[in-house]
Amino acid sequence: MVSFNLEAVQNAITHAKNSEFYKNKLNGIESADIKRKEDFEKLPFTDKEDLRSAYPLGLQVVGDEKIVRIHSSSGTTGTPVIIPYTQKDVNDWAVMFRRCYETAGITNLDRIHITPGYGLWTAGIGFQLGAELLGAMSIPMGPGNTDKQIKMMIDLKSTVLCATSSYALLLAEEITKRGVKDKICLKRGVIGSERWGEKMRGRIANELGVSLFDIYGLTEIYGPGIGINCGHDSAMHMWSDFFYYEIIDPKTGEIQPEGEVGELVITTYHKEGAPLIRYRTHDLTREIPGKCACGSAFPRIDAIIGRSDDMVKVRGAMIYPSRVDELLAKIDGVSSEYQIMIDHVSGRDILTLFFETGLKDEALKTLEKTVEAEFKQTIGLTPKAKAVAVGELPRSEKKSTRVFDNRY
Ligand code: ZN
Repeated sequence: MVSFNLEAVQNAITHAKNSEFYKNKLNGIESADIKRKEDFEKLPFTDKEDLRSAYPLGLQVVGDEKIVRIHSSSGTTGTPVIIPYTQKDVNDWAVMFRRCYETAGITNLDRIHITPGYGLWTAGIGFQLGAELLGAMSIPMGPGNTDKQIKMMIDLKSTVLCATSSYALLLAEEITKRGVKDKICLKRGVIGSERWGEKMRGRIANELGVSLFDIYGLTEIYGPGIGINCGHDSAMHMWSDFFYYEIIDPKTGEIQPEGEVGELVITTYHKEGAPLIRYRTHDLTREIPGKCACGSAFPRIDAIIGRSDDMVKVRGAMIYPSRVDELLAKIDGVSSEYQIMIDHVSGRDILTLFFETGLKDEALKTLEKTVEAEFKQTIGLTPKAKAVAVGELPRSEKKSTRVFDNRY
């Protein structure tokens, strides 16, 4: 269970109120008013829309002389969010990231192949900072150019692959296709920034021959590297000396009972450039009670189950992409990639589920029927299942979108 550090929260509130943004948001509330956890739980949330409204630098709390860098969230729509960092913020991030590598059993003898993008996005540079602080050799590839990725991976004997799950899958498939698996020295994969199913995890692990670790983070709160799983199971340890987290009901905003799924909300304890108080991540997870078998005292949350805003309702049924992942993983002959299209046709919502399979003809038709029946059984509505060949659904280097809601 995550512990609440009252003094750190009070300091964070005092500090945050140096910005116009939090002066307005926490109008009339002083840090001295927060005497216990229950007082803190009454504070208003900060949401992504609030951060957008502060564009470009409304979140900045300290003078320009202390800001060494900005990052921006990869907003595909609307105004981006700009997060200013001080040197201490950058250093704290690196310390957390090094801890992630260490938790995954990575040492200064490893060669870390970094494929997430560098630049405004926090990904690549975070992986780099942590690797350098650890003393490992970082190979700052960035995304794209699969030929070069594989060549460097072979020639430099990369031992750790850092990637999004969809890019790791793409590389795994290429390595298999080219028959170069025996030239690859990878031992571990550190996979971040999107939710992924067991089947995809299994394919990447098998095809690359690596153990996989889920790294957690978001640009608004430093970036990737604020938590990772330790290998005992899929739950992620969270670096709770740097931030406090809560799990809330995304509808009511109330704190969820321990162990129940809800939305992760984060408050930074020591962030200087742009502290955040009760920031809604929209990531769904749950608190894992008890101590981990690895002995670490850091509290744990479950692997991200989905986004509170990815949840779609079709003909009364609630659909989380993670439930579809699990469902498809149990069906023989279905590959890990799928896409859901929701359309409104003649007054009715129609859900079409595209999935990949190696089967053909009659066997393919039978598989479609099986998928429809299983989907109905688990989720409570009958989709139109359409099988396509393996490799036909789009792979991306960034985040894979699984659900396309064309109703609105
Ligand atoms: Zn552990």
